[in-house]
Amino acid sequence: MAATSTSADDERDEPESALETARRQLQHAFDHLDIDQNIVERLKHPKKVHEVTVPIERENGDVEVYTGYRAQHDSVRGPFKGGIRYHPDVTREECVGLGMLMTWKCAVMDLPFGGAKGGIAVNPKDLSTEEKEQLTRRFTDEIRSVIGPTKDIPAPDMGTDPQTMAWLMDAYSMQEGETIPGVVTGKPPIVGGSKGRDSAPGRSVAIITREAIEYYDKHSHETSVAVQGFGSVGSNAAKLLDDWGMNVVAVSDVNGGIYDATGLDTHSIPAHHEEPEAVMTHGAPETVTNDELLELNVDVVIPAAIGNVLTVDNADDIAADIVIEGANGPTTSAASAIFAEREIPVIPDILANAGGVTVSYFEWLQDINRRAWSLDRVHDELEAEMLAAWRDVRKEFDVRDGTWRDAAYIVALSRIAKAHEMRGLWP
Ligand code: NAD
Repeated sequence: MAATSTSADDERDEPESALETARRQLQHAFDHLDIDQNIVERLKHPKKVHEVTVPIERENGDVEVYTGYRAQHDSVRGPFKGGIRYHPDVTREECVGLGMLMTWKCAVMDLPFGGAKGGIAVNPKDLSTEEKEQLTRRFTDEIRSVIGPTKDIPAPDMGTDPQTMAWLMDAYSMQEGETIPGVVTGKPPIVGGSKGRDSAPGRSVAIITREAIEYYDKHSHETSVAVQGFGSVGSNAAKLLDDWGMNVVAVSDVNGGIYDATGLDTHSIPAHHEEPEAVMTHGAPETVTNDELLELNVDVVIPAAIGNVLTVDNADDIAADIVIEGANGPTTSAASAIFAEREIPVIPDILANAGGVTVSYFEWLQDINRRAWSLDRVHDELEAEMLAAWRDVRKEFDVRDGTWRDAAYIVALSRIAKAHEMRGLWP
């Protein structure tokens, strides 16, 4: 379907790179704020980008050399923080863009961290477990001097998992001569990981959805929800919203979705980590494609699978009253403009799914204090942090003529800019 809205005409067409998105949002927020252009100029560039080669000996005896990156964007508010991904498409530019987005995400949550992102250009599915371990240990050693609990704290991302983080922690600790769990988050709890880390992004999506529907005077028992993606983010969000009385009518995975107007029993549907791509095997009155799911006439739609699914091609056909971004970057800039014109609120990813980095912060606190928190404490503190961030963003939204995304970026950028102003520029 072709785009019909004229409001998108002056926006560049999608998809755009993570770096373009991060810079565009920075400029948008700057346009609303009275801050020094020099600070914005500084924030358009990463502080440092480390590029390393990572050689490993494959099981057939060949040596293969991969390229790895760690892009450190800004650390004015605290150590750099951000994931490490293993994916064939990892580039320097992508790491810089995603690192910038981490700076905004940490600032909107008021966490004492800056933003970073790293990765290795490799298809992890081509590696055996032993090769992946070797790759992780060698990469850790190559970036060892620039990471650390007070410098830069990596976390899992696409293609990496708690086991990868345990290897990273071990490689770093062995070289430093002591066990240093705070160098990385997203570890298994037995080696210093936090309880509740896995479900945290989905939980934060659910909390923000609950607050958004209240803001728009909807009652939870009369609210219908469709969730795209039934992985870590989508399944945890859907189950909590179901528990809180909302009517989750549709969920999906990469193969498509299931629909029940009377509400699905979300707890009986296999989540991605329980049984990958098994949503369609669950009985339901109707099935829908992923495209149809996004266009269902529901109160809330939550894209929680992949980026760039709300575009000029479908933004005019979205029938939901509210969009909550569970995935990173599900809405293109052209689609955002159409939603703004149609007055459909879009609650942005940097707020909605920030539960992940927030519980990573809790993990770091537990590690440096050598004191594990109970799951109840993690949930209580996450609830408090999400509500505080929601209130801060809502306050900006209420006083300005802009979108929820603008409001979130304004909160983030004003915090970063004030910190830069107070600290000044090292000559
Ligand atoms: P996941 O791998 O656990 O699950 C992804 C789900 O999406 C699966 O159900 C999969 O079948 C489905 N899917 C994949 N491709 C699809 C497609 N083309 N159409 C529809 N469904 C598709 O992933 P996740 O950890 O839940 O991450 C989902 C999104 O949330 C990503 O954008 C990720 O960057 C973002 N996110 C994740 C975290 C985290 O810590 N897990 C934190 C913040 C943001």
